[in-house]
Amino acid sequence: MMFHEKCLIITVLIFYPAPSSNNPIPQDMDRLEKLGIHSKMDCILHLPMRYEDETQVMPIIDACPHLSGAVQIEGIIQHSEVQYHPRKQLLVTVSDGTGELNLRFIHFYGSQVKQLAAGKRIRARGEPRGGFLGTEIIHPTYRMVSESTPLPTELTPVYPASEGISQKMLRKQIDAALNEVPLTDTLPESLLKSLKLPAFDRTVRFLHHPAADADVTALSERNHPAWQRIKFDELLAQQLSMRRARLARRQQKAPPFLTIGKHSQQFLDQLPFKLTAAQQKALDEIRHDLRSSYPMQRLLQGDVGSGKTVVCALAALQAIDSGHQAALMAPTEILAEQHYLRLSEWLSPIGIKVVWLNGSMKKKERTPILEAIASGDAGFVIGTHALIQDAVSFSKLGFVIIDEQHRFGVGQRLLLRNKGNTDQIQPHQLMMSATPIPRTLAMTFYADLDVSVIDELPPGRTPVLTRLIDDSRRDEVIARIHAAARQGRQVYWVCPLIEESETLELQNAVETHEQLTGMLTGLTVGLLHGRMKPVEKQSVMSDFQAGKIHVLVATTVIEVGVDVPNASLMIIEHAERFGLSQLHQLRGRVGRGSTASVCLLLYQKPLGQVARRRLGIMRETTDGFRIAQQDLEIRGPGEFLGARQSGLQILRFADLEQDGALIDLAADTAQKLLTGKLPDSGTIINAHLDRWLSNREEFLNV
Ligand code: ADP
Ligand code: MG
Repeated sequence: MMFHEKCLIITVLIFYPAPSSNNPIPQDMDRLEKLGIHSKMDCILHLPMRYEDETQVMPIIDACPHLSGAVQIEGIIQHSEVQYHPRKQLLVTVSDGTGELNLRFIHFYGSQVKQLAAGKRIRARGEPRGGFLGTEIIHPTYRMVSESTPLPTELTPVYPASEGISQKMLRKQIDAALNEVPLTDTLPESLLKSLKLPAFDRTVRFLHHPAADADVTALSERNHPAWQRIKFDELLAQQLSMRRARLARRQQKAPPFLTIGKHSQQFLDQLPFKLTAAQQKALDEIRHDLRSSYPMQRLLQGDVGSGKTVVCALAALQAIDSGHQAALMAPTEILAEQHYLRLSEWLSPIGIKVVWLNGSMKKKERTPILEAIASGDAGFVIGTHALIQDAVSFSKLGFVIIDEQHRFGVGQRLLLRNKGNTDQIQPHQLMMSATPIPRTLAMTFYADLDVSVIDELPPGRTPVLTRLIDDSRRDEVIARIHAAARQGRQVYWVCPLIEESETLELQNAVETHEQLTGMLTGLTVGLLHGRMKPVEKQSVMSDFQAGKIHVLVATTVIEVGVDVPNASLMIIEHAERFGLSQLHQLRGRVGRGSTASVCLLLYQKPLGQVARRRLGIMRETTDGFRIAQQDLEIRGPGEFLGARQSGLQILRFADLEQDGALIDLAADTAQKLLTGKLPDSGTIINAHLDRWLSNREEFLNV
């Protein structure tokens, strides 16, 4: 469970309710606390979610059912009656001289029957529709008026509200706040002018009270200049606080690894390939950070198969050659073991002691490893979350690597880093991820991280061809497996995800294994699932690696890291049940060698709209960044970030999809302010953060 919890990587900005120091609000406004309103400024920043146009009355004759949206009518009640067929309801007939229209109330109070008596004048608003008795509005909003009751001259704001808080009360409190609180601008006029943004004071007054002729579309789509100003302010506050956190990190101490020792060269000399330009560039960036005396906090991003491991190995050698230990933590045993096998194969010949640790090792096995870690004999320590247990104590941990970082919680990463803390000295940290973060997210929620990107795959790979196949055409799939095996290739068969039950998932994998064994005569079919003992998993994996198994039936345990270049065909059963990034990760297991690889996505009809879209994207592209972008669009930033679990509040007003240009502008302005490029930068920063994040800012510096 823990590993699926997608947490934010590094500095997380957490908004939590706390009373604001400026402009404390009276006791009787307690109820507003529920909406996160703790001060009068919060009241002012409680902005409408939409507007209603009540400034005009439509003649009833024009209020036809095929109009889209709500209309407002006014007239005299002709007839009012409680009916009992087909169920109890109040039917009120209104006429304005141009025509008649019915108002239908299915839920109503006795008092309303009196209030809505014949002869009275009513102003009602709602969506007209065709009823049995002619045009009607069901449950209109309404008020009783006289002939001289004026129409509002402004659009009516509709605020986010909750139980016990009416729109009327909110309007009253907000108007009071608008009158009492000085709406001084946090940003100087010259800056606003260059950004083409309106003043704060005008902005909030307008958003709470837009004139009748305001551009309703721009207001509701939130691209009106007033909304631009609000979003900019919010994004600027976020950029400022994230960047300040990053500056604060520079005050911390870390061991500088000044020389790139002989081991790096020896390692490169024996490597059977050359680093790609993208790997070299990422490595240079990491090496530069490791030389500094404050902790590195870097994310190494690269699509599945882009070759992150060799880069992290070279970085680790820089730490080891400077007399420190390096640790690599991976989310699963399979992955940790694969890293161990690969890294010890690379580094043992040049005299580096590589060890690994997992949760299910016997004591006899563990003890010497723990000793090697404690004595400093082990230069490179690899493991699962077993690394963060109390029993593990390092001699001199100077460099921490987290693979598939999004699978770890903030707390777990913190625990590992703390294993290296001595006298206020912290280890450098490198995180690796194959789930690319779309640019807008990287600039906002990850603004505190330095990012290196490996944007090129090693040469000689042929892109994976993806086909969608209806589940009823399994015979063809079996034929393809035979064909691949005849060519000496190996195959993955991924069993469906069964979210409700791990037991069912397991049972299904076992059955599929049996079935395929029966159908694939002459071929060896292996099985790999999460409930197997580590030794069993290991032996299956090494048999597959050695080519002794032709077809590996597996659950999603193979999602990350598994590296068998000879496997060139992958079948994913019930592909419609998987998420986009998961499909991408799975598919990344093939296409690692030089032969053309194929991924068959078996699906079962009927396909929902989202599933259809996901599978379509998979067929179209193998570009991890495009897939991540689509994933973000389909799921929204909250789901994508796993923000709900981590308690993070997504931006209130700005939208990561829509407001990319504003994010750039805010980042640029924050940079100018923090480097003192604008007059009075310090004052501006303080005033702005005070308004937008007053007492709500908490850094979790991991
Ligand atoms: P990932 O970024 O997904 O972790 P890996 O580090 O597992 O990728 O690398 C995938 C495969 O590519 C491995 O077999 C690795 O040895 C190989 N590889 C890495 N870099 C290169 C390169 N520059 N040239 C050729 N093969 C490479
Ligand atoms: Mg990897």
